[in-house]
Amino acid sequence: MISLKTSASTVVPCKVCGGEAPVYGAVDFNRNCDIPGGVTLPPLGLPVVHRRCTACGFLFTDAFDDWSQADFKAHIYNADYIKVDPDYAQARPRANADAVLQLFGAHKATLRVLDFGGGNDVLAGVLRAAGVREAVTYDPFVGEFAQPPEGTFDLVTCFETLEHMPDPIAATGAIASYAADPGLILFSTLLQPPDFDRLGLKWWYVGPRNGHVSMFSRQALALAWRRHGFNLASLTANLHIAFKNMPAFAKRQGK
Ligand SMILES: [Zn+2]
Repeated sequence: MISLKTSASTVVPCKVCGGEAPVYGAVDFNRNCDIPGGVTLPPLGLPVVHRRCTACGFLFTDAFDDWSQADFKAHIYNADYIKVDPDYAQARPRANADAVLQLFGAHKATLRVLDFGGGNDVLAGVLRAAGVREAVTYDPFVGEFAQPPEGTFDLVTCFETLEHMPDPIAATGAIASYAADPGLILFSTLLQPPDFDRLGLKWWYVGPRNGHVSMFSRQALALAWRRHGFNLASLTANLHIAFKNMPAFAKRQGK
């Protein structure tokens, strides 16, 4: 039985900036992201209320805020999850590993990397096989890799994770806590597009069945990192870096 939190008040504080976040709309629990190769699930008849901050534009649902890790495993990250996210297991982590190597491969002999939310260790495995000095996976949802790592890392990668985390400030804080200073966080989460106001909840990235509970505007994302003293720079609408002091390995080559 799926039980969702129903907030008593129509306006709640934004999870990022504390501004006013009124109800923005609702989508069915089974609404999944429109990913090539994925399926479209039939509606479950269970509306998931979304809210959007009037100050920073953060779009989120608080419907799962009372869920335990076991609830998420039972209802979202279950055996059917692969149907709505077919690239999860291999294609995406391999592509992300290639991107990391393209960006920072020249420094692999000295680089210590943590892949936060790295699922099945495929990304870190590709980095290790390519000769990266150290590459480890931490993922609280995957038993084998759920042991929090010790210390800090030159590079913390975190792909397609922030949008799954119900508490954006705690999530960015947890990721930030593993970054050395100087050090770099390389992460992905898709920013709301320029025409978001026209798309609203029809935006393809909205998808509770995919576990998307936190969807950032650029301002919201910058504010979340700023809370921990980190600067944000976006390489694309989906790929970003956060840092306090830019490490030498991330400064452009040949300058
Ligand atoms: Zn806000």
